[in-house]
Amino acid sequence: AAKRAGRNQRAWFDASMERELELRNEIELGLRAGIPAGQIVPWFEPQVDLATGALIGFELLARWEHPELGILEPSLFIPIAEESGLIGELSMSVMRAGIEEARHWDPSLRLGVNISPSQMRDSWLAQKIVKLLSERGFPAERLEVEITEAALFENLGFASAIVGSLRNQGVRVVLDDFGTGYSSLTHLRALPLDRIKIDRSFVLRMAEDADAAALVRMIVSLAQSLGVPAMAEGVENAEIATMLGSIACPTAQGWHFGRPAPARATRALLAERGLLNAASPSAKAGAL
Ligand code: C2E
Ligand code: MG
Ligand code: MG
Ligand code: MG
Repeated sequence: AAKRAGRNQRAWFDASMERELELRNEIELGLRAGIPAGQIVPWFEPQVDLATGALIGFELLARWEHPELGILEPSLFIPIAEESGLIGELSMSVMRAGIEEARHWDPSLRLGVNISPSQMRDSWLAQKIVKLLSERGFPAERLEVEITEAALFENLGFASAIVGSLRNQGVRVVLDDFGTGYSSLTHLRALPLDRIKIDRSFVLRMAEDADAAALVRMIVSLAQSLGVPAMAEGVENAEIATMLGSIACPTAQGWHFGRPAPARATRALLAERGLLNAASPSAKAGAL
């Protein structure tokens, strides 16, 4: 009986593994066709100045507009795009679309874009981004390239070269998800950064967890002493926004200020606040 149970378990295991592989392959095939077809679209999450409440920009977050399954979130497809070597193409195509959209915004607004670990192994990354900017006539100073701690410090020498060429061209470089990795103070001082984003796992728990709150406070003052502004991510309510204000965290994003939204809704929000680019054709025509 034990043997039989073992065999059954084995069969079940194989079947579910097989199903998982199938799903993974379906996603990969779907991406291979969907990326060039423009199915990966940019959504935008507002970022604000905490002291004034003013909008300072948006983070681009990829969504897959799947023809049968609807809107899919990055956790489902970004890891598979990474493994199958599609992430570079995916990120560049959604970045191109995001920049195209941001040209319609007020020039004071920045665009944050995410770079994944395997893209940091591409020695042409900085050139590709700079080329995209010049093709679209988008000012380098308006782009913030977000790189996670892990991706940045996996190969510090190589990463420094990429960060250096981006910043030489005027592109801003932001440390994403700070607090989850293992960067030392030496690392932080060695790399010139334009912003440090505090990982949302700490910010989310600030109100009920004193340790999380202490950590956020420490990161804000660390950033301040490095002369780099901090940004809190994952601000879901007014209580947390107030706590962040009281520790002088300069900037933030999260559902309290606005959820990620597609291009059209983002443009409508900007139109309401008089923040469309007066020179852009859509603003002139008043069309949305
Ligand atoms: P991230 O850069 O840390 O992005 C922030 C994530 O936090 C987003 O998830 C956003 O929807 C979520 N978020 C924002 N505000 C709140 C909040 O108040 N509460 C909570 N609970 N969550 C909030 P999303 O869109 O699922 O993106 C997940 C990750 O996928 C991003 O993490 C980023 O690393 C990656 N990603 C997204 N788009 C791209 C892309 O175009 N290229 C690359 N390489 N990676 C991308
Ligand atoms: Mg999400
Ligand atoms: Mg990010
Ligand atoms: Mg983040």
